[in-house]
Amino acid sequence: MNDARREELSAGLAATEARIRDACRAAGRDPSEITLIAVTKTYPASDVRLLAGLGVQDVGENRDQEAAPKASECADLGLTWHFIGQLQTNKVRSVVAYADLVHSVDRVRLVDALSREAVRADREIGCLIQVSLDPAAPTSGGVAERGGVAPTAVPELAEAVARAENLRLRGVMAVAPLGQDPGPAFARLAEIARALRNDHPGADVVSAGMSGDLDEAIANGATHVRVGTALLGRRKPFVR
Ligand SMILES: *Cc1c(COP(=O)(O)O)cnc(C)c1O
Repeated sequence: MNDARREELSAGLAATEARIRDACRAAGRDPSEITLIAVTKTYPASDVRLLAGLGVQDVGENRDQEAAPKASECADLGLTWHFIGQLQTNKVRSVVAYADLVHSVDRVRLVDALSREAVRADREIGCLIQVSLDPAAPTSGGVAERGGVAPTAVPELAEAVARAENLRLRGVMAVAPLGQDPGPAFARLAEIARALRNDHPGADVVSAGMSGDLDEAIANGATHVRVGTALLGRRKPFVR
């Protein structure tokens, strides 16, 4: 049972790593520049453990209710946990206990809550500003359908993170807009990331690309790809 699952995950990992290598070769980049985050949402802690055994070091989750018990079951594995989903302020205390990076920072209130809880927990949390790449998104204030702030709002939010105690500004994250060629969207993200690095040289993470578009993301400078389906299989529809 476990052996069969290990085989499946091993095949998914090999195929994903081959895709990353090919995309890097095509872009003239070194695969060591890319961090593969295994998005384990809806899959059990036993899969996280198998993936860790196969060499995966970074895990992504998008719901605290699911991630918190999984992270504590896997606490012995020394993994880096990435919180990649929209984050409500009432979940921040729980998330700060296990997450090393939060990819979905999209408002000052969340920055304040993360900082307060990080200080309380005596932890440092890496923060990525989630950017909306949907041209139809609101240009100021508000959060777009696929999450994130308008590009024009990035500098101010980045300043808030950079000033906040126990938070470290690490870069940007985005999801490509649905139903559009992801290439131009990721190119836009690369420009936003470059501008951010101008003001904050240490903020060098570009979290972009999922199972369907990691190749385009790598072509456009992604440093972190978030891969679920291609590694673990198609997720069952989520039942609340
Ligand atoms: C689920 C999820 C992913 C992984 O998506 P796949 O298409 O399964 O690879 C990546 N990023 C975010 C923000 C997600 O919620």
